[in-house]
Amino acid sequence: MTSQEIKSLTNQYVMNTYGRFDVVIDHGKGARLYSPEGKEYIDFTSGIGVCDLGYGNELWAQAAFTQAKKAGHTSNLFYTEPCARLAEKLCKRTGMSNVFFANGGGEANEGMIKLARKYSFDKYGKGRATIIPLKNSFHGRTMATLTATGQDQFHNYFFPFVEGFKFAEANSLDSLKAVAGDDTCAVMMELVQGEGGVLPLDKNYVQAVAKLCAEKDWLLLVDEVQTGVGRTGSLFTFQQYGILPDVCSFAKGIAGGLPMSGIMANEKCRNVLAPGTHATTFGANPVCGAAGLVVQDVLSDEFLAQVREKGEYLRAQIETLCLPCFGKTRGLGLMIGIEMAEGYRNGEIANKLVEAGLLVLTAGPGMRLLPPLVITKEEMDAGIAIMKKTLG
Ligand SMILES: *Cc1c(COP(=O)(O)O)cnc(C)c1O
Repeated sequence: MTSQEIKSLTNQYVMNTYGRFDVVIDHGKGARLYSPEGKEYIDFTSGIGVCDLGYGNELWAQAAFTQAKKAGHTSNLFYTEPCARLAEKLCKRTGMSNVFFANGGGEANEGMIKLARKYSFDKYGKGRATIIPLKNSFHGRTMATLTATGQDQFHNYFFPFVEGFKFAEANSLDSLKAVAGDDTCAVMMELVQGEGGVLPLDKNYVQAVAKLCAEKDWLLLVDEVQTGVGRTGSLFTFQQYGILPDVCSFAKGIAGGLPMSGIMANEKCRNVLAPGTHATTFGANPVCGAAGLVVQDVLSDEFLAQVREKGEYLRAQIETLCLPCFGKTRGLGLMIGIEMAEGYRNGEIANKLVEAGLLVLTAGPGMRLLPPLVITKEEMDAGIAIMKKTLG
């Protein structure tokens, strides 16, 4: 089919819930994507932080294909090997104790919220179920995670929302103390707020929250759906912040492009979700698990150090361009935010870049770059050249 035919068919039969770019993708290789007509794009998006190994990775495709031929799905009533091995890898590399596998980020965060409330109920009984997320956060599109998202624009249309969420200011321990009370059971945060505009939290603040949570027996819930799996230059971002969460969610990059998510619990929380309290039919899918094992093999410590170097290189190159539309860059590893200069709108700039062959994202009022973690210097330079030509 041609790009035009694919767009018409989509617009006729698929619900119009996304502000799509005017781009049709057919296939890719490395950090490059191609339309059906062969138009080339440099990809600084990874399908919103998912395709950490880029496109066309042979080992990844082989692993999924081999497992798909063996058994594509079994349900959790039976044991299978791939997710057992993936869970082991995640725990051994982070110090967490066990894993529950689900399918998407919002669903993983639902599990994290349920775990926190059950932990508190088991120990303290009713009336201690309030979760404190941060303002400007993003935690998903399900009813509870939409409620937990600290941006007013998300709290529309779908009333009534879920009870038991109160918001604290990011980077303010005083705000957290003011909001918390006898009803608090957990604090929930992204360590780098992603959709909110790529805003890394202060390390001192995060460590102080972790300490306070431990004192009060509030669970510290860390949403690493976007920041996890190597994106910021460590396997999980909490490792750079020097904390161990009680529960941590992951999704996007975990299986390199197949739908998979999950939560990891520390030793204190490993037995909270007992048989019958939480489940999902597609969870721990063996094809996704096999793909996830390939991702783990690629993300060696040496590779993660390269992610940090690439992030620094890309930011330095962007700042060197001194483009009139851009202000400062910020972020961690290959999760990069760019501020807009006065008078420029992120959506317009993104459209210009995409049209010129560079795929980028927006977040909050700025730009956001989430290139495949395997991106090469040559591919980064090709993207920078498009920025210079289009916006210079
Ligand atoms: C993307 C994202 C989610 C939602 O994940 P879905 O897979 O879209 O449900 C939740 N939290 C954070 C931090 C995210 O970036």
